[in-house]
Amino acid sequence: MGNKNKLCQHKDIFERMNYLYQASHLMASIDKRTASYFGNNMVGCARKAVLRMEPNLKRSICKCCQTPLIPGETARVRLTSKPVKRVKWTCLTCMNIKRFPTKKGYKLWLDQPAAIIETLDYTPKPKNKNVKKSDAPEKIKEKEVNAKTLENAS
Ligand SMILES: [Zn+2]
Repeated sequence: MGNKNKLCQHKDIFERMNYLYQASHLMASIDKRTASYFGNNMVGCARKAVLRMEPNLKRSICKCCQTPLIPGETARVRLTSKPVKRVKWTCLTCMNIKRFPTKKGYKLWLDQPAAIIETLDYTPKPKNKNVKKSDAPEKIKEKEVNAKTLENAS
């Protein structure tokens, strides 16, 4: 278990980005500025640690103001067919436009099976871990108590 966890580099940053992403989505309907701030923070985290966001995640954020793009709420989604068939996302906060071409049978590199090299399992065993964690401090306390009692005795 311990070795497997060590393999996940920048786990803390990923967790932080996850938190910020969720926070920004929650704030999207309440305050767009705060949502944009959280989104900006998330992108900053990724940039600082040189981590890449998943394309689907990246596409759900405005490239210009980092507000989460929620269709009908913070973004307008339209299908266009003029030059090429594509999906047009308009951010209603900064009016920035993003276009994604829709090609039949096209898959992002990450969605292709060749992109997956190895799958790591990080599912923790909650019951065992909790027992171990709760046991550890008690043992330390016992040791401390023993040491104190020894000191007092001597
Ligand atoms: Zn925007």
